[in-house]
This record gives sequence, C-alpha cells and structure tokens, in this order.
Amino acid sequence: MATKATKTEVKTTSNVKRVYYFGDGSAEGNKSMKELLGGKGANLAEMSTIGVPVPSGFTITTNVCDEYYKVGKKLPAELMAEVKLNLAKVEKSTGMKLGDATNPLLVSVRSGAASSMPGMMDTILNLGLNDVTVQALIKKTGNERFAWDAYRRFLQMFGDVVLEVPHHDFEEVLDEQKKKKGVKLDTDLDAKDLKEVVAKYKAAIKKATGKDFPQDSMQQLILSVEAVFGSWNNDRAILYRKLNDIKGLLGTAVNIQAMVFGNMGNTSGTGVCFTRNPSTGENKFYGEYLMNAQGEDVVAGIRTPLSIDQLEKSDAKSYKQLCDIRLKLEKHYKDMQDMEFTIQEGKLYMLQTRNGKRTAQAAVKCAVDMVAEKLITKEEAVLRVDPNSLDQLLHKTVDPKNKEKAIAKGLPASPGAAVGKICFDAHEAAKLVEEKDEDIVLVRIETSPEDLIGMNAANGILTARGGMTSHAAVVARGMGKCCVAGCSDIKIDYKKKTMEAAGKILKDGDYITLNGSTGEVFAGKINTVDPEMKGEFAVLMSWADSFRKLKVRTNADIPRDAIVAKRFGAEGIGLCRTEHMFFEGDRIKAMREMIVAKDLEGRKKALAKLLPYQRADFKGLFEEMAGLPVTIRLLDPPLHEFLPQKEEDMKAIAKEVGVTLEELKQKIDSLHELNPMLGHRGCRLGIAFPEITEMQVRAIMEAACELKIEKKMNVVPEIMIPLVGNVKEFENQKAIALKVIEQVFVEKKVKLEYQIGTMIEVPRGALTADEIAKEAEFFSFGTNDLTQMTLGFSRDDAGKFLPQYVSLGIYDKDVFAVLDQTGVGQLMKIAIEKGKSVRPNIKLGICGEHGGEPSSVMFCHKIGLNYVSCSPFRVPIAKLAAAHAALKFK
Ligand code: PEP
Ligand code: MG
Repeated sequence: MATKATKTEVKTTSNVKRVYYFGDGSAEGNKSMKELLGGKGANLAEMSTIGVPVPSGFTITTNVCDEYYKVGKKLPAELMAEVKLNLAKVEKSTGMKLGDATNPLLVSVRSGAASSMPGMMDTILNLGLNDVTVQALIKKTGNERFAWDAYRRFLQMFGDVVLEVPHHDFEEVLDEQKKKKGVKLDTDLDAKDLKEVVAKYKAAIKKATGKDFPQDSMQQLILSVEAVFGSWNNDRAILYRKLNDIKGLLGTAVNIQAMVFGNMGNTSGTGVCFTRNPSTGENKFYGEYLMNAQGEDVVAGIRTPLSIDQLEKSDAKSYKQLCDIRLKLEKHYKDMQDMEFTIQEGKLYMLQTRNGKRTAQAAVKCAVDMVAEKLITKEEAVLRVDPNSLDQLLHKTVDPKNKEKAIAKGLPASPGAAVGKICFDAHEAAKLVEEKDEDIVLVRIETSPEDLIGMNAANGILTARGGMTSHAAVVARGMGKCCVAGCSDIKIDYKKKTMEAAGKILKDGDYITLNGSTGEVFAGKINTVDPEMKGEFAVLMSWADSFRKLKVRTNADIPRDAIVAKRFGAEGIGLCRTEHMFFEGDRIKAMREMIVAKDLEGRKKALAKLLPYQRADFKGLFEEMAGLPVTIRLLDPPLHEFLPQKEEDMKAIAKEVGVTLEELKQKIDSLHELNPMLGHRGCRLGIAFPEITEMQVRAIMEAACELKIEKKMNVVPEIMIPLVGNVKEFENQKAIALKVIEQVFVEKKVKLEYQIGTMIEVPRGALTADEIAKEAEFFSFGTNDLTQMTLGFSRDDAGKFLPQYVSLGIYDKDVFAVLDQTGVGQLMKIAIEKGKSVRPNIKLGICGEHGGEPSSVMFCHKIGLNYVSCSPFRVPIAKLAAAHAALKFK
C-alpha cells in the first residue's frame, strides 16, 4: 500500500486514522493513496493541493469498510469522533452547518474504491435536508422550486439506497403528479407540485418501512455511510468485480463532500468530460453537460446532454477554466483523465478526476500520441496498454464495402461490429447466450447497472437514450464491446418486444448489425471484415517488439491460418496439428481406410494416398512462413476421432471404405476407450503403427527438400513427437524418423538441416526431462495436456466443476486458460532445469492455449522460454505481454 507522508496528523482514540480531510487548497491525502482512500478520495485530495477548485470534504478510509464487515456490519465506535471533527472543518470552510435551521450545509455521500466501479455502488446527494432545512434553503436561494426538487431527490435516493424502499414506489408518485398536472417532464413540475411530491415520498417511506423518514441530519449521515459500505457487497458490485477481475481490495471508501448544485437555474450545470476522446483516443477535449441538472441526470441518460464545446457559448468563463484544468490535470497525471464538474451559479467546481476508461483503440492512440507529446516514454506507452484489451482491435469491423443502408444512427460509443438477434431484456439475453449459445444484441431504451449481466453476454449493445458517457457507453467501452448509444431514431416498445426505425418494425429475435465506430444500425446480418495492424497500433507493436525477449510463434495447421498470423507478426509456427489436415475432402476417406485396414499392407496403401496431401500442405506452410521456423507435430489424437458416431453415417462410410457395416462397428468398438485423452494417442500411436510416423516424416522432409530444389528455400523443419513420458518412446520414434529422413535425402539427392524434438505434456516427461533432452533437440510445453495430467482434471469434463472451483477460489482462474503457475509451472521449471543440465542450449517453447494468455506469457518469460506459440489472433496480445514482462522484470 502506498502511504506517502501526509501533511497533518490527526490523533484518534485508537491511534488509527480513519478520516482524511481535503479542501481549501490542501489535503491530508494524495493521489498515491488509492488503496486507502479509494480512487475518488485520493484524487479529490490531489486536486485540492494542486490548485483545482474542489468543494471541501473528507474521506472515510477503505480500512473502515473492512472493519465494518469484520465486526458484523457496524461502524467502529471511534469513527464518529473523527467524522465530527472533519465535518466541523467542512462547516468552517463553507461557513454552513449540517442541520442548521438558517444556513444548512448539504453534503454528498459517495462510494469510491481503489479500482473504479462506475455506477455499481451507492451515492446519496443533498443530505442534510429535512422539513426545517428545506425552508432555510428556500430563504437562502430564493428558489423555492430548486429547494423542493433537491429535497425530493434526497428523499428518493435516501429511501432507495438506505431504507430500501422499492424504486418504483417513488416513480409512481412522480408519474402520478405529472399525470395530474398533464405534463411529461420532471422539469415541468413547479414548486407546489414538488412540495406535494415530498409529502407523498415521505408517506411512501412510512408505508414501506413502518417508520418516519429521519429528520436528524447526523442520523441521516450515519445511515448513509453504512449504506455505502453495504453497497460494496451488492450483487452488481460483486458481479462487476468478478467480470473485471478486481480482487484483494479492502472495500470502498466513503467521500463526504459539501454539495454544489448544477440545478440552481440556467447559470448552473453539470457534466462529465474526458481530456481526450475515450473511444478513438483523439487529442480533443471531449465531454457532455447539461445546464440546470444534477450529476445523475447526465450519467443516467434520461436527458440527452450537449457536447462540451457548446459550453463556450453559454458560459465562456467556466469553459475556459475547464479547458485550463483539462491541460493541468493531464500534465499532472500524465494520462487521459475522466472528470466530473459542476457549475453553481457561474462558479466551476471539480468533483472527480480519474484515469479515463477507454477502448483499446483509444488506449493505443493516447499512448503513442503522449510519447510524441513527450508526456511519457516509449516504455511507459507500452506498459499503458493492457495486452488483453488488444483483443478488441483484433475483432471484426463492418465491411467498408457494405452497400446496405443503415436504418438508424446513434452515437459511436464503443467501436467494432456486432451481429446478433435482438433481445430487449438483459436477463433473457444472458440466458439465451448461456443456454443456446445465441448471438445477441441487447437493445434497451437505456441501461442501468442491473443490465450488466446481459451486456456482458451480448455481442453488442444498442440504446435509444443517453450520451457517450451514459452507463451503456462507459460499461461497454470497459468491456471492449461494440455499443451504439443514444440512438433516438429507434422507438422501442418493451411490451410488444419490437423496435421501429426508418419505418421498419423489427421484432425480438430478428437479426441486426451494429457499427460501433460510426453509430450505424442495420437490419439483418451485414458482412464483417478482419482487422489490420496499422497506424498507431503498428507503431506501439514495433516498440513492444523492440523490448521483448520472447519470440512469438503461432499455432497454425493450414496456410490460411499462417497468413493471418504472419499479418499479425508471428515469427514462426510453434505447433502444426497435423491431424486437422486429415478432415478435408478425400483425405478423411483415406484416413478411415487406413484405420479399418486389416493388415500392414492395407494401412500402407491408405497412407500412400495421404502422403501427397500432407506433402502439399507442408509445402504450403513452409512457403508461407518463408524460412521462419515451423514445428510439425506427428499424429496425436486417438483414432476413434476419425470414425463416425451415428449409425446412418456408419452405413455410408462402410461402403465407402469397402468393409461391411458389421466390420466397421467392430472396429469402432475395438477403438472405444473409457478415457481417450489418456488412451491410445500421441507417440503411442506412432509406436503401434510406425508406418504412420514414416508417412508423416516423409511428407515433411519431401516438402522441405522439394522447396530447396525448386525454390532454393532453406527450410529447417522441426519434427515434434507428442505425448512423450519416457525417453524410450522418444528414441523409438526418433529412430523411425531418422531412417526415413536418410532415405528422402538419398532419393532427392539433397540434404538439409532439421530438428527432432518433443512436447513436454506428460508429467513424467517433465520429471525425466534430463534423460529426454539427451535425445530431443527442443521441448515445447503442451500445457493443455500437462494441466490435465498434473491436476487430474479431464480437459473434456472439467467444465462441469471448474466454474465452481473458481468461484470458491480453489483455483483463481480457469486453469485451462490461465496457467497454474504454482503446480504446472513448477513442473515446467523442473523440466527446464533438467533439460538444460544436459543440453544447455535446448530450444524451449510453449504451444498450449496458455501461450497467448498475458499472465502466462509473462511467466514463460520469467522461466526462460525462447518462444510462446498461440492462435493467430492472439499473436499481438502475446507480443505485448512479452514486452510487459521484459520491462517489468528487467
Ligand atoms: C497441449 O497439450 O498443450 C497441446 C498443445 O496439444 P493438444 O492441445 O493438441 O493436445
Ligand atoms: Mg497435447
């Protein structure tokens, strides 16, 4: 935990400081104290000390939240003395007093954890209002409507958050009042109406809770602090932390701060802005505001706000000041900031700043631009971009050649393309994705934190209301999900489950396509195209390349995959699974003939048919990789995988391969295994059927030799033996390979370099790696199988219990996606040490799924692998993670 010395020491009874003051140009905390003060608290303190106007207030630490839960949801006894002391400071600073009958101080009570969790926890505004102070507010402001509106908002938030009165109880009152008056908007209600609303809200609270709304301001404050701590563990906050992998935090801090009002009339307003565009990264002031509104109006998307540059016309002074603050904060934090501000009767206050959430595209552009602006170094720029987030840049986009016309256009809130069936309900969307694996686009009038589950499940999100900083937009960008927001061209009818746009009625379940980069909405499915690595993305990747030590190869079985991977900068093929080549066209027939053949002769005949296919495939791969290393693994899966399962297929296939149905069935029965993953597969096949190994090695070497003869290409094939657990298995296969290789050299009258190595994916293989390394020229860790066998979790069945294991924290993550460094990683270290002890320069790689997962890639760097190999689309992710590792573990 960062604990820079603070400016003032406050003595507390138990010597633990629980509350930190900020205001009047100074603060007890600073920006490095996020763990203790939460992001909001730490930055409010920082802003106070660097000359940014911040209403005074204080932060109750995250430690207190921890204490609150530890002692059974109670505030520690010593807390109130400190709160009172700090409240007195705020009162002194503002010249107002909480609960005072003539000059009442009103405060906001806001959550704020070390990691930002936008909208997930609770906030209470206008605290301090009651039947007496509301009168004082009327007198003080001369604005009766404003005072009653503030009071009713407070009652609603306090009732909802603290007293848990159902939200719609309040909605109903407000709707009735509007109906009674014959108006549509809240703003059409006058002071008298709002006064009535207040009375009805109080009655609603009494009815729902059996108690009167507490008039005592101190009691309101205590209850609100408790409620904010309580909201740390509400369902959506828990889900948000889970989705965003936020772990190990103590809890939320609580910020209590003097209220400033954006709804005091037309010289007041409130807004949210970013120092740069959070969607594209463009270095242009970006934001939205509403005049005569309170903060939640902007975020909730109820009224569509104005763009920030328009503020210049209505309040040039505040706009200029805001622009200066934008520059000041970016220079100070050296990162893009997301700021909240309020203007109260022409005076500007900053209520929050934090590093802005951004799309991957924006992250990359900001990082590269900031290097040009000399704000940060190239190293910092590379470290700024989360490798996982690159996934977004590697997603498809709407085909630029698309000629279809959009049926509606909204705000381009989060880029990419989303194609899916319309679903109007978040929970239903989640269900459709989970149970039926449907492609869904979630369509909502606006979203709220309750919709998180559906937003996460959907391919994209479309909302009819709300701006670029609305809940939908912010959350979608955080998730890297395509989102079109504020699309007022569409009319949504939840009851009929339809949306209407451009005269078209689309129903629940109809396909639509979103273009999150332009805001366009199309009816039906529109073509999408693969991404490219260009512009700032290419620049950032070139910096990453200059820092990383690990090479990054790809797992590719066919030339088409290799082309994609090369476009993303793959430096070779780390795993070609040859079995995938057997499934296309006539090959599968020859493969089946080989399997059902009654004798060696029959098998050889069938294998001879496969040889030209394999040779051509290998030639294609070698040519595509143009001299880069290519590792080809000999046949791995159990043979039953190539035979049919269904009776109707069996009939046709029996005929095709020239056996009776009975004979085929017998063969299938004889190949049946209880646990095929631990059965007759890998080198065990090559040992039982050496002719398979012979054919594959011949195909590899003939391909390489022919390329040398025909195109003078120098290919260095790497032949990889799978599933070796005993050096004798390796020796057996190596001997077969060497014999064939010599034959091919004689036949082709040419020689070339080659390597024969093994996968390390059986624990015994890792434990006896010194013996194996005497024979093998390289190791490639097959961490899919190594995980399966080390943990004793079947790759096929673990899905049944792994999610529960993860939610219980038995394993932190899905071990088939994120390497189990403690267990599997330990075996890798042993294998490396033993392997190097006999062959110091042994080439080491990984080709399991973990080779493209950032934390696993970083581990591979640490234990000294030479390369990682991953699927083509993950190559840039692995490269950036490798650069992070090189920079972090210098
Ligand atoms: C592995 O086991 O990690 C591996 C790459 O091989 P496969 O997934 O094909 O078993
Ligand atoms: Mg394997």
